[in-house]
Amino acid sequence: MSHFFIEKQPADGLLTIDGSEANHIINARRAQIGEEIKLFDKNAKCYNALIVSLSKRKVNVEIVSEYVYENTFPVQLNLVQALVKSKKWDLILQTSMELGLQTLTPMTCDYVAAGINTAGRKERWSKVLLAAAKQSERPYLLNVQETQTFTNVLEQKNSQILIAHTAPNIPSMHSVLKELALDKPLVVVIGPEGGFSEKEVEKARQQNIKFFSLGKQILRAETATAAIIANVHFYFS
Ligand code: SAM
Repeated sequence: MSHFFIEKQPADGLLTIDGSEANHIINARRAQIGEEIKLFDKNAKCYNALIVSLSKRKVNVEIVSEYVYENTFPVQLNLVQALVKSKKWDLILQTSMELGLQTLTPMTCDYVAAGINTAGRKERWSKVLLAAAKQSERPYLLNVQETQTFTNVLEQKNSQILIAHTAPNIPSMHSVLKELALDKPLVVVIGPEGGFSEKEVEKARQQNIKFFSLGKQILRAETATAAIIANVHFYFS
């Protein structure tokens, strides 16, 4: 069944859809009166709805049933990712959304290239997330938090923080996860293209934060994102 995102909630079991989603239903999908469609708000609420009338720019539907989507990701994971250039960041958003991550936090740190910032990028991020949500049939958008510094991230006391690091002799992700008493939300930190500075590594060590390795190969930041989300999902399922 085709699915579309809605901006407002139905009232008394009825809803009028307009704007780009109406255009999509009418002109791209060429839906017909009497057809059943799925509607997602962006916060995991889903509706099965029947098209009762169509005009050039509006679609009127009757709600048949509703339910709340349950995310099947097995733990609460906040992925803290050092900022990378725009196209790579788009890929990180898409991958995270498709793999079911709930929370992503952009991070600045010593080797985040000068000139990479989030100013003016949030609207674009929403579009990328919406497209990825549609593609993967997820009825919600990944929660992208405000950007934090590496220092701020380490200060989160009510979280279990782990850092993905490429230095030699770091224990594997699997062995680190095995030793976790997961009584707090999990925060996994991924570094920028240039990795972490010695100062940052030292600061984390002083705070007894655990590092883990994904193997000897150095992965691009966006590949590390996919590997980490998939590994956490697999490990805790
Ligand atoms: N030259 C950098 C270095 O040596 O750290 C490469 C950084 S890598 C492109 C970007 C980030 O992805 C790293 O900071 C780390 O968080 C993560 N990463 C990539 N490969 C990894 C691996 N094999 N194990 C753990 N983390 C990895």
